[in-house]
Amino acid sequence: MAKTRIPRTAMPLRPPQARIRDFLEVATGFTPEMAIQEAQRCLACKNPTCEAGCPVRVPIREFITLVAKADFTGAARKIKEQNALPAICGRVCPQETQCEQTCILTKRFESVAVGRLERFVADYEREQGEVAVPELAPSTGQKVAIVGSGPAGLTAAGDLARLGYQCTIFEALHAAGGVLMYGIPQFRLPKETVQAEVNYLRQMGVEVVTNVVVGQTITVDDLFDEGYDAVFLGTGAGLPKFMRIPGENLNGVYSANEFLTRINLMKAYLFPEYDTPVRPGKRVVTVGGGNTAMDGARSARRFPGVEESYLVYRRSRHEMPAREEEIEHAEEEGINFKLLTNPVRILGNEEGRVTGIECVRMELGEPDPSGRRRPVEVKDSNFVIPCDSVVMAIGQEPNPLIMRTTEGLETNKWNCVVVDADTGAASREGVFAAGDVITGGATVILAMGQARVAAAGIDAYLRRKRGAEVCEPLSSTARS
Ligand SMILES: Cc1cc2nc3c(=O)[nH]c(=O)nc-3n(C[C@H](O)[C@H](O)[C@H](O)COP(=O)(O)OP(=O)(O)OC[C@H]3O[C@@H](n4cnc5c(N)ncnc54)[C@H](O)[C@@H]3O)c2cc1C
Repeated sequence: MAKTRIPRTAMPLRPPQARIRDFLEVATGFTPEMAIQEAQRCLACKNPTCEAGCPVRVPIREFITLVAKADFTGAARKIKEQNALPAICGRVCPQETQCEQTCILTKRFESVAVGRLERFVADYEREQGEVAVPELAPSTGQKVAIVGSGPAGLTAAGDLARLGYQCTIFEALHAAGGVLMYGIPQFRLPKETVQAEVNYLRQMGVEVVTNVVVGQTITVDDLFDEGYDAVFLGTGAGLPKFMRIPGENLNGVYSANEFLTRINLMKAYLFPEYDTPVRPGKRVVTVGGGNTAMDGARSARRFPGVEESYLVYRRSRHEMPAREEEIEHAEEEGINFKLLTNPVRILGNEEGRVTGIECVRMELGEPDPSGRRRPVEVKDSNFVIPCDSVVMAIGQEPNPLIMRTTEGLETNKWNCVVVDADTGAASREGVFAAGDVITGGATVILAMGQARVAAAGIDAYLRRKRGAEVCEPLSSTARS
């Protein structure tokens, strides 16, 4: 059969009625037969346009060719030449706007399912116990402190460990993984998958120290004083934004960050077996249209006792920034979408608890600077959605703690660390940064791509430093 006649292989999913009762993974993954069939759809183009769509330039054509030959471990290793976290990216990357969007097949057919194949080979390699620690360069004798253990920190640590640097990751929370651990729910990204990646780094000699808030427990200057030769900041954008509308301080209003951290990291849905509760009540309204909002609404839907989970978004479905797959899964799970709707006030009772959210209807006007049509309020269209809790998922920005406690670190008006785009170097010598802390909330793969740039920048900087140290005794000998 002609390759183009083979239909795109669908991802097997658990039925919505089963999955809204637990937090187990929704997508169950390809079988080897499905993976081979899907790989056979790839035209192995001479000029693989899909690779240009990937921020870390995964050798997509080569890895898919190996899958078609049933060399799954070889395929996983090929991906890992460029991307150390394939099991994660295969699950959460927005492929439809990256590699799959630029797949040549999309012109007339459906793109090759690159993400699903990436996930399959990474899982296969791990499940078969075939993950091999890569060869490490001889030790340079230099130490790098990595602050934050999200995708940016993990990627930088992996690249630098390979180059022979002794890396220590300092993480504020009690578990490493950043948003992958505390934000993205288990039903999209099992935490065992994240921990397997963290353990892989440990096997490469990376030390992971948790419960250390840099800027509070220890400062960036202390790290240099303790002998670190460079400091990488991958602290993300964990500070939630609020709408600044009346009622946001009522009991029952959560930032998505807090709500998801309690549920994912602290396993609140298993209270009292785990000791951090969330009491969302029967009706939960999540505000926003991105991945975080979908995760909030879908987590609420699964929470014991919740009967209705609403999602309130001020634009239409078309403008939602969330991944298409997440929106579809939310719809299948019965999330009640209130589109073209914007909250104006949160209502509460005399005990200070949320009882409802007053909203106004919106319509789309002219495009704004982002190119999306601007939502405009429809006059006198207010209405109330009765609810017991509200989850605000309207965006996040970097926490200013490190910037406030580190002299000479330039930031922009969004509190993001300013870096040189080619090296990841910040304004303070020896400090580098990547990920959401330089861009504001973005994506896993962008954070990883920037972290690779910064790791190369750190390597170049530390090579220069080594060179200078080697030269110094020589010149002092010459002087004496
Ligand atoms: C709920 C949610 C869902 C998402 N879904 C997707 C998705 O499906 N696909 C996608 O591509 N992207 C998604 N994103 C975005 C993506 O997760 C982020 O862009 C990415 O995690 C950024 O990586 P990072 O390493 O820069 O930061 P983070 O992942 O935020 O990691 C930063 C780490 O630094 C730690 N830290 C912060 N300050 C300090 C300090 N002072 N000292 C020590 N440690 C510190 C934090 O605790 C955290 O562990 C989602 C984001 C959220 C919040």
